[in-house]
Amino acid sequence: MSVQVVAAKMAEVELKDVLTGKDLPAESPVTPTSEGKNLIRNDPHEAGSSAATSPTAEPSAKAGEGSLGLLTPNTAKMPQGSAMKRTDPQQNGGEAFVNRDGTVAEAPRMKKIQFADQKQEFNKRPSKIGRRSLSRSISQSSTDSYSSAASYTDSSDDETSPRDKQQKNSKGNGDFCIKNIKQADFGRREIEIAEQEMPALMALRKRAQGEKPLAGAKVVGCTHITAQTAVLMETLSALGAQCRWAACNIYSTQNEVAAALAEGGFSVFAWKGESEDDFWWCIDRCVNVEGWQPNMILDDGGDLTHWIYKKYPNMFKKIKGIVEESVTGVHRLYQLSKAGKLCVPAMNVNDSVTKQKFDNLYCCRESILDGLKRTTDVMFGGKQVVVCGYGEVGKGCCAALKAMGSIVYVTEIDPICALQACMDGFRLVKLNEVIRQVDIVITCTGNKNVVVRENLDRMKNGCIVCNMGHSNTEIDVASLRTPELTWERVRSQVDHVIWPDGKRIVLLAEGRLLNLSCSTVPTFVLSITATTQALALIELYNAPEGRYKQDVYLLPKKMDEYVASLHLPTFDAHLTELTDEQAKYLGLNKNGPFKPNYYR
Ligand code: NAD
Repeated sequence: MSVQVVAAKMAEVELKDVLTGKDLPAESPVTPTSEGKNLIRNDPHEAGSSAATSPTAEPSAKAGEGSLGLLTPNTAKMPQGSAMKRTDPQQNGGEAFVNRDGTVAEAPRMKKIQFADQKQEFNKRPSKIGRRSLSRSISQSSTDSYSSAASYTDSSDDETSPRDKQQKNSKGNGDFCIKNIKQADFGRREIEIAEQEMPALMALRKRAQGEKPLAGAKVVGCTHITAQTAVLMETLSALGAQCRWAACNIYSTQNEVAAALAEGGFSVFAWKGESEDDFWWCIDRCVNVEGWQPNMILDDGGDLTHWIYKKYPNMFKKIKGIVEESVTGVHRLYQLSKAGKLCVPAMNVNDSVTKQKFDNLYCCRESILDGLKRTTDVMFGGKQVVVCGYGEVGKGCCAALKAMGSIVYVTEIDPICALQACMDGFRLVKLNEVIRQVDIVITCTGNKNVVVRENLDRMKNGCIVCNMGHSNTEIDVASLRTPELTWERVRSQVDHVIWPDGKRIVLLAEGRLLNLSCSTVPTFVLSITATTQALALIELYNAPEGRYKQDVYLLPKKMDEYVASLHLPTFDAHLTELTDEQAKYLGLNKNGPFKPNYYR
């Protein structure tokens, strides 16, 4: 046999070989053009790259260090989303009662059930700024309602603000502010469970034993504080970094996990149900500390970066780079870059291929059923479902529903995706052809007004309506805020909208992302993201002078491939290695990258 089979060969590659290796592919700064498209710089020297070179050349960086390639205009579509915090700028989370013609109507009759967990959504401690205009004054991602199942904590009715408590861990360290340090043991168990599904981070810890690629790194982080983040933080620490952390979302902190981190010596400032004032106070406590100054930023949503820009711009003199995970944060970085105000290199983790593929297809394939089941207890077998949009998310949803025995219809505007749907065995229809008969309607187009009032009027009694797309624009929920319709909150995230004749539809998460609002996201998917974040931090921290400029970059393809390879051993997967002859034939380096930079 000419093809040598090795057990997850790439996963055995030493960390140092990938991170600052000589054969790193060119970096790929991605800059949005004025049309909102991206300009992807491909390396014309990169093996396998078929990108045409542009006449607008850039000088390359030092030889042997992954030279910066020529500028290649590329109209590659800006990937739209990532899990965990996709947001809609128009989403206000409130109860806007607007007629379809845009005029404000009298509030519809609304029966709301008060849930225990809702009462705890905010810290009761009055803050300087109070709770006014939360959604306007802090980034939308910070206020997005996060998974209802994200935290199992807070059965305690302790209403004292963590800011008013003096707490110390068992070693007498009090440099943290969390809900309750006594929950540390519980949090530790949560972290240990997450570790089982985050093999790549655990492998990184082992791989880096002896070497500390983050020695001297002072990472300030602002992300969801969950068990998965804790695994990331503890990995960064094992690799030599010091960390200070705040939450990027006022609802999403798992208090018990924050407690375990604080017990472990991490300076964590976060709790579930922060007020706006708390939110910024926590971020400030991470950066405004005597004798400690960050040199790396790990952000999720851009609030931390924004805060440092606003309050402590001088800090950027010491900061070596920003790693940003979310669509929103990446967008803000591009804006800074466009305005010439980005003063350090930034890594756009959101758009790395591995993350995109896992987030969109596999994450949705896993979580669509979970979200529907938790909210409605619906049985899927034999149910008629229409899925609007057959992109990555749509494909995931359809596959899951088909596997459960649902009869699945698809709507599409793009003939290629439409043909894919047909070839995959789904009936391609127009929405109005099936709207009267379907039991479930799912939107995942990234578009607006895909389901409008006319469709909602025609749905049958009991029809479940939900959205898996980025924003809450896909279902025209505002059109349901009219006086003749009654809204009944039957469960958290579940509204019955009732027509005068008694017909009711079941609207989930008020048209916001179903899986992020009502289910958990698989830890394995988060593992991909967290590993990408860790590698991006290490790469930026260790990059030689000149490799990265003050721009927004994608993770080098080889590192993207490395992230995937680190996850392969979980499946006892056996990766085939190219022979010399094959590598030559394809024009590839045997160790990768195996795909060109523009590969999606
Ligand atoms: P995609 O572009 O691959 O797919 C969207 C599809 O919808 C396209 O094929 C497009 O032709 C089709 N479409 C557009 N308008 C339509 C319409 N009016 N009717 C029918 N089809 C229409 O995008 P994707 O990766 O599948 O993502 C879809 C949305 O889901 C995005 O908003 C994305 O941000 C979001 N997303 C959600 C999650 C999640 O966890 N829920 C994860 C990733 C992405």
